[in-house]
Amino acid sequence: MKDIENKQNDLAFDPDIIQAPLPEVDVPQTPPESLMKLMAPPATKHSCLACKSVYNYTIQRWDQMPLSVLGLPRSEREARMMQRLVMDVRQCANCGHVFHTDFDYDNIPYRTGSNLVYNDGSSWRQYHDDLVDEWVADFNLRGKRIVEIGCGEGMFLERLAQHDNHCIGFEPGPDADRAKARGIEAYAEYFQGSRLFDLKADALICRHVIEHLANPLDFLEDISIACCEADLSPLFFAEVPLIEKAMEQHRINDFLYEHVSNFTKNSFRTLFERAGFEVLDIRARFHDEVVTIVAKPRPNPLQRAIRRRVASFNRSISDQIKNVQDTLQGWKRDGQRVALWGGTGKAAALINMIGITKELAPIVIDSDARKAGGFVPGTGQEIHTPDYLETHPIDHILICTNWRARDIEREIREDCGLDCDLYVYLNQGLQKLTTECAL
Ligand SMILES: [Zn+2]
Repeated sequence: MKDIENKQNDLAFDPDIIQAPLPEVDVPQTPPESLMKLMAPPATKHSCLACKSVYNYTIQRWDQMPLSVLGLPRSEREARMMQRLVMDVRQCANCGHVFHTDFDYDNIPYRTGSNLVYNDGSSWRQYHDDLVDEWVADFNLRGKRIVEIGCGEGMFLERLAQHDNHCIGFEPGPDADRAKARGIEAYAEYFQGSRLFDLKADALICRHVIEHLANPLDFLEDISIACCEADLSPLFFAEVPLIEKAMEQHRINDFLYEHVSNFTKNSFRTLFERAGFEVLDIRARFHDEVVTIVAKPRPNPLQRAIRRRVASFNRSISDQIKNVQDTLQGWKRDGQRVALWGGTGKAAALINMIGITKELAPIVIDSDARKAGGFVPGTGQEIHTPDYLETHPIDHILICTNWRARDIEREIREDCGLDCDLYVYLNQGLQKLTTECAL
């Protein structure tokens, strides 16, 4: 997938033979200039693809747009019968990203359709040569392992391979075979960040791909997280069309269904920074019609710490459940009666997560008299007020909410006058409540 925007004029169909009804265009009512500065955009259900803000302004909505890059019709009938798609084009109020909201990646046959790439323009060819020379010189791309995501026919990698680089391409469409024919190690598949564990790339290239993605932030975050896990810090070179000139000139033909994202320099930078990259260089090129970025994953020691903590927490849970169950079963076996203090909220969560059934602990007390007569969600024990214990003696009370445990302890000892053992759920099991307990 690359270099596709230059071919648009060659894909235009003869208007005389296209009889499809013209789309009805709702021309938005423009408020007076004096009022516009008072208007904030309403929150929408559509998040910006670059920064996730839900505040955006409508540029225009087209209801009947065909694909225009993938799947060139080979007959008039086929052209007229093409699926019509909605393009609801908006600009993010936060970062300036231009995107459309009703996009469905599955409407585009990337697996079977070849991009109609126009690579023969001499200035475009020269641009590629110059870009490779610049990146090789400025970032020492010699003798490196370079992975291109969406390598198309492999023409860009072919140039990089001339500098003793080991070049690997990912291209889900039929162009992968053409890349292989150029001697590129090409895979006919979508790239996943996890591939970096094996590939150990020194550099990633991704040109004219990101504007096609339904979730570009997820795509880049997948890579930055994988880099962190694999302890890699590859340079990431990316290029997309730049929408700023089209916006200034009020050009509408830059909006293509296939390009769900239209980047400004700011939104391109925002996307990478939000995805965990440090931006080293960003610049408009080719008559300001494209923008390139060079970035590298930001070190993120917090991510590894979180992974370790989560794994430890997760591994402990089954042991915790067994510990609490064993204690409660032991009390039941020994004929010791227990009451649970707390029947909703965190107490109900504990009762359900541990599986403290009515058979195991039938008595549930709550300090809040409003809950009396209700039942524990999920397990069904009836909830009673504390005076229930006057007629139903118990040996232990398990206080199910630690943050209120000291108040409940005082209530049990002073208000109810009970001297039974008190327990809390602490340190992955049940622990007798003492003054030393660090709740
Ligand atoms: Zn945004």
